[in-house]
Amino acid sequence: MPTLETDPGKNLPAWTSLHLDYSRVDDRPQVKHVRNRSAYDRTLYVGRLDRSPLGNPFRPIGGEHGRAACIKKYRAWLWQKLRSRDKAVLAELDKVTADTVLLCHCSPKDCHGDVISKAWKWLQRAREHGIY
Ligand SMILES: [Zn+2]
Repeated sequence: MPTLETDPGKNLPAWTSLHLDYSRVDDRPQVKHVRNRSAYDRTLYVGRLDRSPLGNPFRPIGGEHGRAACIKKYRAWLWQKLRSRDKAVLAELDKVTADTVLLCHCSPKDCHGDVISKAWKWLQRAREHGIY
């Protein structure tokens, strides 16, 4: 079962023991294309245009392979932000609820928004378990 991708080792035994089922999508935010903004009650833009604290600082190079690599880099980046308790990132994540729709330009292609959705779920559970 995938956990939020970590740098293995380094001081996180309690965190990494939190295994979650990310295949469920009804208990975490969905990701939609920004053009659908008006179709949803609760939305949060996570693309790079408005300098969202959750925007992906990495740019994809070279098609879908580049997209996957870019999302992987983002996952490591976001995890590092959580580990360092980055105030801007946490404040933005705390605007999200399970029924918030995350808006980006890549959806329905793979998007860093899905990483955010999983990270958000991880964060809720980690707090419930008192390990964050
Ligand atoms: Zn995206």
